[in-house]
This record gives sequence, structure tokens and C-alpha cells, in this order.
Amino acid sequence: MTKVVLLFCLMFVIAGTPSVQGGLVNLNGEELQQGELLIVQVETTEYMPRGVFDEDQLYFIPWNMGWIAFYGVSYWREPGTYNLTLQLGEREVVQEVNIRDGNFPESHITVSEEQERLIRPEEDDQDILDRRSRDRDAVQEAYAQPITRPLWEEEFALPTTGRRTTGFGHTRYVNNEFNNRHAGIDIANVQGTPIKSVNQGVVKLAEELLVAGKTIIIDHGGRVFSSYSHLSKIEVEVGQTVARGEKIGEMGSTGFSTGPHLHWEMRTPEAPLDPDLFIGTDLFSLPLTPVL
Ligand SMILES: [Zn+2]
Repeated sequence: MTKVVLLFCLMFVIAGTPSVQGGLVNLNGEELQQGELLIVQVETTEYMPRGVFDEDQLYFIPWNMGWIAFYGVSYWREPGTYNLTLQLGEREVVQEVNIRDGNFPESHITVSEEQERLIRPEEDDQDILDRRSRDRDAVQEAYAQPITRPLWEEEFALPTTGRRTTGFGHTRYVNNEFNNRHAGIDIANVQGTPIKSVNQGVVKLAEELLVAGKTIIIDHGGRVFSSYSHLSKIEVEVGQTVARGEKIGEMGSTGFSTGPHLHWEMRTPEAPLDPDLFIGTDLFSLPLTPVL
């Protein structure tokens, strides 16, 4: 691995731009964990590759002297070995990728009956059911037409400061009953703490949702999104371009929340991903390993 990094750094110095990784097909790993990002790079200008991970389509975008695809491995995907099938011109290649268990811990929270009804509405809670269905549509729409061209610049940055409470992937129990896996990271601080965009992007949603509270979703291009929930204040509008580190709102406790905190997610449209993997990382500079 060190050799690959050294080689890559050397090439970077010589070429001055992110450069050839070595092989025709390069991956960021043949073994990944649930909730990680799979990067597939194909070094050719002769054709546009196509690819499928298990049964999910990959989306290749032009990059450098070839193509790159970013695919989110869901934390619901069973650990095991999967086929990455690539169509390279006339040739079909199958590469095995092993997905490890994330071994995510459990997390328990206790909330009031009124709060619990937001996530477990009764059949006659028509208002809550309608709002939740409307919210689901709005969120789906925000992820529906991702910007193809990557907009991020350099590394991704933390969106706020504070104490981390619940981590990514935790199995969440509310009032002792299983609720869901935790799709992001919770960072707690005082109401009004500034919330900043983790990188450059375009705002795709900026509104109050019933469970997530005041929420912003930012499209960073290349199928990478960030989202920020439970805010007290939203300071951006849909369609607006935001810079890396630009203030977009303030921390709050709106929606299903037990106190002021930021619920922060990073994802592709397919799956929420571990936000920590993005911090201090430029996705184009990650070391890739040739597999072909
Ligand atoms: Zn959360």
C-alpha cells in the first residue's frame, strides 16, 4: 500500500495534476466496510465504461485521462463477497469486492410520548402520516437528479464544533424499541452554533421537515451529498451555490430531537455513508490500487 501511495505522490509531483494510478482499472480497496465509499477508476479514453456492483448501476464521470465512479455501500448490505462487473469496451471483467461488517454499536434514547408519535404514528394520526409522506417525497426529489460534475474543492471540512453524541451506523432504539440505523453523526453544542457547508455545492433542499426538523441538503456533484438537520435557523435557499466553510444555518433542536445538536449526513443517492471518511479527504487524492 505504501508503495502505491509513494508512486502516486511521485506522479502527482511530476504531472502537477492527479494522474495515472497504474492500471486500467483502479479501486480504493478490494475490501470495504458497510457504509464506505467504493471508488472505481478506469484509465481509458477509448470508450465509456459501464459497471454494476452486485445489482446496482455505477455512474461513471469523466476524470483526468479516463473515468471515475463513486458508489456508496449501504450499511444494510449483508457482509460478504460481491461482484463488481465492468464492461470495458468489448470486454467484460468481474472483480470481487469483499464487504466487512461495520460492527456498529447500539444506542438508546428515551423521548416523550408526543415525540415518539412522530416516528411511530398511530393509524389515526393522519396529519403526521401525511407530513411524513410529503417529507419523504421532498427528500427523494432532492437526491433524484444529482449534479454529475464534482463541485467539491480540496478536502471536506467538519460542519460544526461540539461534542459527538451518536455515531454513524449505530442501531438506534427509541424507548427500548428498535427504530433504525443512525444515518449520520450527531454533534451537540449550544443553540445558535454556526453550521457550515462541508464543501462547495448547490442547495437542493432547505425547509422544515417533521422528523428531521429544519434541514438543508447540499449536492456536491459526483453523486456526493451532505445534509444538516434539527437546525434553529436556515440561511440558504434552494438553488444557491455555497462555498466550503460558508455558514448555512444555526444549530437547534427542531423536529425529533432531545436537545440542540446537528444531525449530519454524507451520502450518495444509494446510501448514507460514514461522514468521518470524508473529513480531511479530497476524494480525488485517495490512493487507488490497480486490479487490472
Ligand atoms: Zn442524528
